[in-house]
Amino acid sequence: MSHRILLLPGDGIGAEVLEAGRHVLDQLALARGLSINYETGLIGGAAIDDMGEPLPADVLEAARRADAVLLGAVGGPKWHDLPGNKRPEVGLLALRSALGVYANLRPIIVRPGAVDRSPVKAEIASGTDILFVRELTGGLYFGDKGTEGDSAYDICRYSRHEIERVVRMAAIAARQRRGKLSLVDKANVMETSRLWRAVTQEIISRDFPDIELEILLVDAATMHLITRPRDFDVIVTENLFGDILTDEASVLTGSIGLIPSASLGASGAGLYEPVHGSAPDIAGQGKANPIGMIESIAMMLDHSLGLPTEAKALRAAIGAAMAQCVTVDLGGTASTMDMARAIADQLDRAL
Ligand code: ATP
Ligand code: MG
Repeated sequence: MSHRILLLPGDGIGAEVLEAGRHVLDQLALARGLSINYETGLIGGAAIDDMGEPLPADVLEAARRADAVLLGAVGGPKWHDLPGNKRPEVGLLALRSALGVYANLRPIIVRPGAVDRSPVKAEIASGTDILFVRELTGGLYFGDKGTEGDSAYDICRYSRHEIERVVRMAAIAARQRRGKLSLVDKANVMETSRLWRAVTQEIISRDFPDIELEILLVDAATMHLITRPRDFDVIVTENLFGDILTDEASVLTGSIGLIPSASLGASGAGLYEPVHGSAPDIAGQGKANPIGMIESIAMMLDHSLGLPTEAKALRAAIGAAMAQCVTVDLGGTASTMDMARAIADQLDRAL
């Protein structure tokens, strides 16, 4: 069976980290005899420059046909003066919504090789291993919005169905990890949060009695993430709270260049991308850390390609390579491709 992967380099360091990821993936395919069928497409600023739009129709079609989409990053100062609805980022939002990816998974792991870079003391941060499951296609970002006279409004609406599917995904993940799920809401003031809480309690007590459910108000959660990050296993939350909390949690890891993400729907292609942006300040210099991208590939092996053994080996290879090879963001001198080659070398040993 051949795996169909759509590569979308995008802008800035997006292309550099994707090239690094491709190097590692080619090594993996060679070592395991996997057949991978690649297509490449334009998105973001690169697509605007070439095609006049941030997500060309044929790229969207290719994404729908693929088993997985691997994306670098989109955006940059070159396109900042375009009107809001013509910006590079619009291409990514359109892709997420066309693929119906309602859950965004973001692991936050504080690694031994990066803990000294964390702004939180090592004795508090080390050992942190959190999986965020953020609802991605509902809530305030997608509700009715507008202005009336001198006021403005954004409607936050969630259906039982929208909550249930993402909570289930989070609970299944918790079961495969340490068995704890934390729901973050604001049920003391928000009606949607009260629905989130009711639906979550119902699903967990009925279908996941083995899972420990913790419920936190979002204001308290912002503090607990900094004071006791190790206590969390899986955190599930709505779109807005997830957006804010995942950025907060990202700084715990010591470098944004380390963090991967997967956006998943009920079926169809998953979308995998590092959480960092196009980093125009370091683009073209070979300084980008490719680990966020390579960890995203490990998530792709797990969730879209059904290759958990390979995913595990890849993660082991990343850990081993980090002990020898240190990129610029972590205080070393290794280039993007040095890191990719170190991981590819370790992979041979891990398989
Ligand atoms: P965007 O609007 O695309 O999110 P941004 O400037 O807000 O862009 P990033 O592009 O993620 O955010 O960059 C934030 C900072 O982190 C920059 O200083 C950048 O150089 C650094 N950075 C981002 N990704 C990496 C990486 N993979 N390796 C090293 N440094 C990185
Ligand atoms: Mg940003």
